[in-house]
Amino acid sequence: MLCGYGRVAPSRSWVITPRSADELAEALLALRARPGGLIARGAGRAYGDAAQNAGGHVLDMTALDWIGAVQEDESAGGAPTVRVGAGATLGAILKRVVPLGLMLSVTPGTKHVSVGGAIAADIHGKNHPADGSFAACVRSLVICSPGGELRRISPERDGELFAATLGGMGLTGVICEATLALERISGRSLVGEISRCGDLGAVLELLGGDSHRYAVAWVDLLGDLPGGFSRRRRGFGRGVVVRSDYVGRDASRQRSAPGAQSESWHAGPAERPRLRVPDRWQAQVLHTPMIRAFNALRYRLSPASASARPLPFNSHFFPLDALANWNRLYGRAGFIQYQYVVPRGREQVLEQVLVSLDQARVPVFLAVLKRFGRPSGGLLSFPIEGFTAALDIPAGTPGLRSALARADELVAGAGGRVYLAKDVRMEASAMAAMYPQLERFRALQGAIDPDGLLRSDLSRRLGLLAARGGA
Ligand SMILES: Cc1cc2nc3c(=O)[nH]c(=O)nc-3n(C[C@H](O)[C@H](O)[C@H](O)COP(=O)(O)OP(=O)(O)OC[C@H]3O[C@@H](n4cnc5c(N)ncnc54)[C@H](O)[C@@H]3O)c2cc1C
Repeated sequence: MLCGYGRVAPSRSWVITPRSADELAEALLALRARPGGLIARGAGRAYGDAAQNAGGHVLDMTALDWIGAVQEDESAGGAPTVRVGAGATLGAILKRVVPLGLMLSVTPGTKHVSVGGAIAADIHGKNHPADGSFAACVRSLVICSPGGELRRISPERDGELFAATLGGMGLTGVICEATLALERISGRSLVGEISRCGDLGAVLELLGGDSHRYAVAWVDLLGDLPGGFSRRRRGFGRGVVVRSDYVGRDASRQRSAPGAQSESWHAGPAERPRLRVPDRWQAQVLHTPMIRAFNALRYRLSPASASARPLPFNSHFFPLDALANWNRLYGRAGFIQYQYVVPRGREQVLEQVLVSLDQARVPVFLAVLKRFGRPSGGLLSFPIEGFTAALDIPAGTPGLRSALARADELVAGAGGRVYLAKDVRMEASAMAAMYPQLERFRALQGAIDPDGLLRSDLSRRLGLLAARGGA
């Protein structure tokens, strides 16, 4: 059985683990003759059903985890590059390049994602307005077509296929390697400013500014008072905003040779988390009163006015990685992360969604807000210019599905969308209303994969593929 990180909606597939690009091509050719189709899987960190394929095959790409030598690449605007296998995790790449004073400019909230998964979801970090999504890091990639043909593609030469693949959720072919651009951080460190905000309006105002490269907010949606869900509950929407930036020499203009030691963070990401929930843990540990108390404490312990301080590498980029297997604390039923974005100017809809969930007695245990800048051009990429909220909710909450369906309507009505890499429950009609490039994606995907080999539980549920027999 396979499932996503939310541990909801598991399904049974046959898993094949190719160990090289040639083995991958052979596997694709062999699977053409079998029913059920196939989808690639990386580190399994998508929250929903994107990397599973009930009754068919799943290609586990984690063995293609090689990392090549860093190249000084004049053609990439002076930025060094690194060639990596699609199964390499961002954590393993950073472990290699940070000691050289180099960094990936876009990283998600966990380092345990594969390069293939990062490309397929066109992931974003806390710096989207400044640096865009993962598409901005990808110079080229090698993709294995449903016919077993290995092809190198780049945004300059293969614009359409590139746009369909970045954010294409593995449905345009299996990515087997990528060449990624790196930025120089040698001699630099991050300084953060932590600000406590009494309400959502103040949180959004701080996130809306351009004074810092990175910005993220934690918001309390449970408030102080136990019992009774109501918007008037004290503390609903208060939050803490962390804005940060590099300080030190502007290393992007330097030509330091790979091998030079960075003066800060020279070790890169932590090898192992200090704490770990046991692999077989099944009990639900997280409950509303506990999270309400935790939130109140977190809010009160944050500095009342902005204060600047140096930020360590791990807690700045990957705070959730400090506790391995934290997803198991939601128990057997798992959890759903509802991540949506609304266009700039429609912030009131971002709040309406939060209020509607609160009124439906849906407890949000973790709420994280960020701002997005210009989209990457990926046909199914999630980020559009505006504000995004990611909400962690216990999957067993009564009435959750209908509350989220109402939220979908609000989001779609405002011209916003839900993130496919986090989704496990949306309906095809909502998908069509949110992603205006869906028809173009379907047409392109149909041309690449006329026999409908590539498919997943997500693609079936959301109707991501053009109608054809069996897909
Ligand atoms: C704690 C946590 C924090 C997160 N924070 C963020 C965040 O800040 N920003 C953000 O954008 N996302 C975030 N995510 C989501 C995560 O970045 C994406 O879901 C990413 O796609 C996971 O990569 P993976 O290797 O685990 O892919 P999987 O979950 O295995 O697969 C995800 C998708 O990628 C496709 N795929 C995987 N490998 C390949 C390949 N080789 N070729 C073709 N397709 C492939 C799969 O078919 C599937 O559609 C977070 C997830 C977690 C668990």
